[in-house]
Amino acid sequence: MRIKADFDLCESNAVCVGMAPDVFELDDNDYLVILSEEVDDARAEEMRQVVASCPRSALSIE
Ligand code: SF4
Repeated sequence: MRIKADFDLCESNAVCVGMAPDVFELDDNDYLVILSEEVDDARAEEMRQVVASCPRSALSIE
């Protein structure tokens, strides 16, 4: 599965970073970085929760 972010919607509040810090990170300028777009399917439920928790609906799963 692939994680996508709409960087125009993201407001860098780090909710996703807190839930999955091995996948998401904020850089030194507070811009979201997806460290690993390709995430193991075994983590599908976890990633669905992260996507659902984004207050800006900026994340999606492909
Ligand atoms: S939870 Fe959503 S708005 Fe917050 S940093 Fe992650 S993608 Fe951006």
